[in-house]
Amino acid sequence: MKALFLDVDGTLALGGNSIGKAIETTNKLGSSDEFDIFITTNNTSLGYDETKEKLSKLGLKSENFELINPELVFRNYLLSLSDSLDILIIGTESLSKSIESYYKPKQHSKRVVLVGFDKELNYGKLVEAGRYLEAGASFWTLHQDSFCPTEYGRIPDAGSIAKLLELVYDSQPSIDFGKPNELYCEYVKTIVPRYENVFLVGDRLNTDISFGNRLGLNTVLVLTGDSSIEDISLAITPSCIYEDINIFYSDLLNIKDDNDPSFTHRKRLN
Ligand SMILES: [Mg+2]
Repeated sequence: MKALFLDVDGTLALGGNSIGKAIETTNKLGSSDEFDIFITTNNTSLGYDETKEKLSKLGLKSENFELINPELVFRNYLLSLSDSLDILIIGTESLSKSIESYYKPKQHSKRVVLVGFDKELNYGKLVEAGRYLEAGASFWTLHQDSFCPTEYGRIPDAGSIAKLLELVYDSQPSIDFGKPNELYCEYVKTIVPRYENVFLVGDRLNTDISFGNRLGLNTVLVLTGDSSIEDISLAITPSCIYEDINIFYSDLLNIKDDNDPSFTHRKRLN
């Protein structure tokens, strides 16, 4: 059995549109007995369930994949804590409702500012976050992507919102729940041993590829989003590079021998 860990923005889709037949092929692979699909997006602009719904609207059939996003890792972390927290969420209404559905603060809770991909950010929220931080609240981020690639270009993401707070309040996030950081990797590490072969496909070197490399996976960089060949450094090197995920899929389906060493060194650029 093989597993595919797939990023979404810049890998499977741009904006609301599949990159070529990426979504269709992912469904085919997910419904086969040969592959399990894990969607490893860092996008937290929606709560967990609404993220799944959005992926369904994109065409990914929910029975064909499991979603591992920073909110899931955050939720898992909360369960491990004995302290009660008063969490100020810098996030969309969808994200806030999702978190509030499973977490209720108690009196005298420790204060935390949690930053996500807040597409509804306003000045009042930033000021309130500042009040928390100045009163000694912990500073956590769901993920630290500075921007999200769309069909129109880059838009500011959670990492940029956190940077703004860092700059004003001279405070650094102490915990991050997204790729490529420790808690995310720890979560995924529990899944990897179930499979003989695991491929990680993503468009971003410093999140996707870095996270896959940390776990020793076959890492596939696609050039349809953030990173270009010029960005590759010795510090973060993917196992292979493809122009887009569709070409990778066609090679993946044509591999006769999973242990063929040439596969992991293949570079496909038409
Ligand atoms: Mg991406």
